[in-house]
Amino acid sequence: MTIFKKIIDKEIPADVVFEDDQCLAFRDVNPVAPTHILIIPKKEIRSLADIDQSSDKEILGHLLTTASQIAENEGLDKDGYRVVINTNEHGGQTVFHLHVHIMGGRVMEWPPG
Ligand code: 5GP
Repeated sequence: MTIFKKIIDKEIPADVVFEDDQCLAFRDVNPVAPTHILIIPKKEIRSLADIDQSSDKEILGHLLTTASQIAENEGLDKDGYRVVINTNEHGGQTVFHLHVHIMGGRVMEWPPG
């Protein structure tokens, strides 16, 4: 079981900014930008490399539309923000429960490290 599953089950606390029947969004414990929020599906999906191409289509769309709404709620939409899904070892994934990072409040650099 991952730490994110424990957050979904309310076994460990998190600073939750949004929740519905399909997903949960909370502030990253180690933020790399003034605003840094993670959105996770309540369904346990290991990574973007492990999705079901047909049955996970709706939840993946839901994660991105929710990311857009949360960014707007946080006042990030006008200046902009970055959305990232780190995937497996080369992608820098450290928690193996699919999650979408929303980062904003400063200018992001490109290319990433
Ligand atoms: P990854 O590197 O897998 O894409 O991102 C995992 C993120 O989860 C990291 O940014 C890390 O700071 C965050 N994180 C890890 N454990 C916890 C936790 O227990 N609570 C919260 N809120 N964030 C966590």
